[in-house]
Amino acid sequence: MFNLGSVSTPSTTSDEKGKHVKVLVLGSGPAGYAAALYAARAELEPVVLTGMQLGGQAALTYTIENYPGFPTGVGGPELGELFQKQAEHFGAVTEFDLANAVDFSQRPFKVMTESGEYLADSVIISTGASPNHLNIPKEEEMTGRGVSYCATCDGWFFKDKKVVVVGGGDSALEEGLFLTRYASEVTIIHRRDELRAGAILQNRALGHEKIKFLWNTIVTEVIGEEKVESVKLKNVNTDEESVLETDGVFIFIGHTPNTQIFEGQLELDDNGYIKVNNLMETSVEGVFAGGEAADPHFRQVVTSAGMGAAAAIQATRYLEAQEA
Ligand SMILES: Cc1cc2nc3c(=O)[nH]c(=O)nc-3n(C[C@H](O)[C@H](O)[C@H](O)COP(=O)(O)OP(=O)(O)OC[C@H]3O[C@@H](n4cnc5c(N)ncnc54)[C@H](O)[C@@H]3O)c2cc1C
Repeated sequence: MFNLGSVSTPSTTSDEKGKHVKVLVLGSGPAGYAAALYAARAELEPVVLTGMQLGGQAALTYTIENYPGFPTGVGGPELGELFQKQAEHFGAVTEFDLANAVDFSQRPFKVMTESGEYLADSVIISTGASPNHLNIPKEEEMTGRGVSYCATCDGWFFKDKKVVVVGGGDSALEEGLFLTRYASEVTIIHRRDELRAGAILQNRALGHEKIKFLWNTIVTEVIGEEKVESVKLKNVNTDEESVLETDGVFIFIGHTPNTQIFEGQLELDDNGYIKVNNLMETSVEGVFAGGEAADPHFRQVVTSAGMGAAAAIQATRYLEAQEA
């Protein structure tokens, strides 16, 4: 599917301190590869560290209907692969690696990774976000045994089975609708009595014969020995508790930015998002950020890609000014 790792590393020079690159992009989602495309076309030979999820969250999504240029939608993994190919076509290099720590106190910036260390003249952070957990008993233990955060990845395992979806936003409804392809019944459990999701998705889900809704309800425990067997529920208005039999629990209750490694290095907001100005500049000159790692508001493929592109344009200007 994707090309893992790089075939060449034209932009890097290695010494005992690590590989030295002009532009290091952290993350391989829409923001990361858009940044890499722009930096590559500026002949900065960017290196992209993929992190654990090549293609980012978009690659986990079955279909994306609101990315411009695809009149009938495009598969999430396919779009991720196109982003990667386009950036690499112009000279970006993909490294299957994860940043563990950074030192932005001096230039070149230092980025410590699973496989070694990079020195970078500029860094573009596009580490995106990860799904929130409910943090209830047995959630972690049952992950991969019925608890999932990705319908596209795991839906197939629930052919003719009953599943619950937790959440009331766009992701919950999109993924709930996707799960109707496999599951015999999808129960969407939402803690409020109205949905946050957009109107089109609401209409599709509310009118779907396989989808049921449980309103004003939270999941308080996952129950099962080898695999998920049921969930314990609580009505938030009456405090009444009940147990619902299910084979799968799909959780879509928002995301937390993947910015922990930047704590103490960059200014973050109270929710952990990297603070950027409208030029995608962070609190450290030469370090830029784009996409969901720096965006609590829009959180879309198109907006993330746009921020990534903007970050790379600004990084290019910054490097040009350094050379002048
Ligand atoms: C289920 C679901 C459905 C969605 N549907 C849509 C939709 O229909 N339309 C739409 O526009 N948007 C949709 N979105 C949102 C969209 O996917 C995101 O807005 C977009 O992917 C964000 O892009 P990003 O590049 O900022 O971050 P991400 O896509 O989150 O990518 C982050 C990247 O950073 C990497 N990374 C993380 N930490 C590190 C590290 N320490 N070192 C190196 N790399 C790291 C990860 O491996 C990943 O490659 C959906 C999201 C989900 C979860």
